[in-house]
Amino acid sequence: MKGSFESVVSMKDLEASKRIAAISAQAQWFEDNSSILPNHKKKNVVGISAKVITAIGEVGDSAPATPVGINLPNPNWIREKHGSKSVMLGNIMDAYNYVKARSPATEEFSATPEIAARIKQHGALAANLHVDMHEVIGHASGRINDGVGTPDKTLQTYAGTLEEGRADLVALYFAIDPKLVEIGVMPSIEVGKAEYDSYITSGLMTQLYRIKPGEDIEEAHMRNRQLVSAWTFEKGKAENVIEKTVRDGKTYFKVNDYDKLRTLFGQLLREIQRIKSEGDYEAGKNLVENYGVKADQTLLAEVHKRYEKLNIAPYQGFIQPRLVPVMKGAEIADVRIEYPNDFSAQMLEYADKYSNLLVRN
Ligand SMILES: [Zn+2]
Repeated sequence: MKGSFESVVSMKDLEASKRIAAISAQAQWFEDNSSILPNHKKKNVVGISAKVITAIGEVGDSAPATPVGINLPNPNWIREKHGSKSVMLGNIMDAYNYVKARSPATEEFSATPEIAARIKQHGALAANLHVDMHEVIGHASGRINDGVGTPDKTLQTYAGTLEEGRADLVALYFAIDPKLVEIGVMPSIEVGKAEYDSYITSGLMTQLYRIKPGEDIEEAHMRNRQLVSAWTFEKGKAENVIEKTVRDGKTYFKVNDYDKLRTLFGQLLREIQRIKSEGDYEAGKNLVENYGVKADQTLLAEVHKRYEKLNIAPYQGFIQPRLVPVMKGAEIADVRIEYPNDFSAQMLEYADKYSNLLVRN
């Protein structure tokens, strides 16, 4: 077994937590109206506690690459009995969204200027809602059949990818549902369409920038994103739901029918929930191996070439603020926040102060 550690110091974002509370309050409605089979639905969705936090400092697995949401506990039996707890890291999401809204990659990889404009306008909210729905409704949804073991036993090494896919699909299935407008968390379904465009482009193409030429996809979230996108691309081919075009040697994926794409997301969600509920290892393995693992090397080379021209790094990391107490006698009267701007210097400072294991020359 392998263990790891992560720690986040945070404070609650009261305003942003209202959005998530509005979603959380509808947990039973989402469960009842999901595309999964009736006997895989929870009769009483309990205890989804969610809030948005402002990260102040992160260490361990949470830094320098940070999660945008954390959902605990991991064991399914505790979740089913007592519920689960979710936090969204609001200021981290804001930082990613800030960069994304200004990134030339949006124009570079969007099939049309209109699609790029919609992502620039609604992409930030779309991404926030996706994470909210993924964490609060997605992971908490569905039940495992009586007598079937937990996914780490039944689905083994495929459990992580399938679980992330399942949670993404819950978010995607409801992304263009008028319910989200009705409960006041998005102004129109244009937000959901922006999410469909971003997700498909990332899953079928742009995320390939994160892996090296010759390699396949290993990481669970990346595998699930490709699985979901490649499966819906293939199943919608006859009706041209997602269209692949090449212009001037550049590949684009364009969603032609958002409602049909939603139906396909619903079908895949039902199947992955069935796999989890029944513990169907073979079916789970086939889905992941056939759609999630192999990287299209021609497309990968093209994506690398296009990104390199834009001079954008494939991953973003964060430098931690330094919190300096302002003393008044023996009391802390205030805290001054300093923002170091040299990542290597911060790592070396941590090594100096906090590590007796790191050997430097
Ligand atoms: Zn997740």
